[in-house]
Amino acid sequence: MGEAEVCLYCHKPLTADDIGITKKLINRGTTKYYCIPCLARAFDITEEDIRQKIVYYKSIGCTLFQ
Ligand SMILES: [Zn+2]
Repeated sequence: MGEAEVCLYCHKPLTADDIGITKKLINRGTTKYYCIPCLARAFDITEEDIRQKIVYYKSIGCTLFQ
Protein backbone atom coordinates (compact mmCIF):
# COMPACT_ATOMS: atom_id res chain seq x y z
CA MET A 1 0.00 0.00 0.00
CA GLY A 2 1.21 3.50 -0.87
CA GLU A 3 0.27 6.76 0.76
CA ALA A 4 -3.40 7.25 1.54
CA GLU A 5 -5.28 8.97 -1.25
CA VAL A 6 -6.72 12.39 -0.46
CA CYS A 7 -9.45 14.46 -2.11
CA LEU A 8 -8.04 16.62 -4.90
CA TYR A 9 -10.19 19.59 -3.76
CA CYS A 10 -10.21 19.54 0.04
CA HIS A 11 -7.36 17.09 0.81
CA LYS A 12 -9.49 15.01 3.13
CA PRO A 13 -8.31 11.38 3.41
CA LEU A 14 -10.47 9.11 1.23
CA THR A 15 -12.14 5.78 1.87
CA ALA A 16 -12.31 2.92 -0.63
CA ASP A 17 -15.93 3.94 -1.27
CA ASP A 18 -14.90 7.51 -2.16
CA ILE A 19 -12.36 6.19 -4.65
CA GLY A 20 -14.80 3.65 -6.11
CA ILE A 21 -17.56 6.18 -6.71
CA THR A 22 -15.10 8.71 -8.18
CA LYS A 23 -14.08 6.09 -10.72
CA LYS A 24 -17.72 5.28 -11.40
CA LEU A 25 -18.78 8.91 -11.87
CA ILE A 26 -15.69 10.25 -13.67
CA ASN A 27 -13.65 7.52 -15.29
CA ARG A 28 -12.52 4.06 -14.29
CA GLY A 29 -8.92 5.00 -15.12
CA THR A 30 -8.77 8.28 -13.19
CA THR A 31 -5.98 8.75 -10.67
CA LYS A 32 -7.53 11.91 -9.19
CA TYR A 33 -10.10 11.23 -6.50
CA TYR A 34 -12.65 13.28 -4.60
CA CYS A 35 -14.55 12.92 -1.34
CA ILE A 36 -18.33 12.55 -1.41
CA PRO A 37 -19.12 16.21 -0.51
CA CYS A 38 -16.82 17.49 -3.29
CA LEU A 39 -18.26 15.00 -5.82
CA ALA A 40 -21.76 16.12 -4.89
CA ARG A 41 -20.82 19.75 -5.56
CA ALA A 42 -19.04 18.91 -8.83
CA PHE A 43 -21.98 16.91 -10.19
CA ASP A 44 -24.65 19.17 -8.65
CA ILE A 45 -26.30 16.27 -6.80
CA THR A 46 -26.71 15.58 -3.08
CA GLU A 47 -24.34 13.61 -0.86
CA GLU A 48 -27.27 11.29 -0.18
CA ASP A 49 -27.61 10.64 -3.95
CA ILE A 50 -23.98 9.54 -4.00
CA ARG A 51 -24.32 7.34 -0.91
CA GLN A 52 -27.33 5.66 -2.53
CA LYS A 53 -25.32 5.06 -5.72
CA ILE A 54 -22.57 3.41 -3.64
CA VAL A 55 -25.12 1.14 -1.95
CA TYR A 56 -26.59 0.32 -5.35
CA TYR A 57 -23.29 -0.49 -7.02
CA LYS A 58 -22.28 -2.65 -4.06
CA SER A 59 -25.61 -4.48 -4.27
CA ILE A 60 -24.98 -5.42 -7.90
CA GLY A 61 -21.44 -6.57 -7.13
CA CYS A 62 -19.59 -3.78 -8.96
CA THR A 63 -15.89 -4.60 -8.97
CA LEU A 64 -14.99 -1.00 -8.07
CA PHE A 65 -16.43 -1.57 -4.58
CA GLN A 66 -14.77 -4.79 -3.52
ZN1 LIG B 1 -13.20 16.89 -0.89
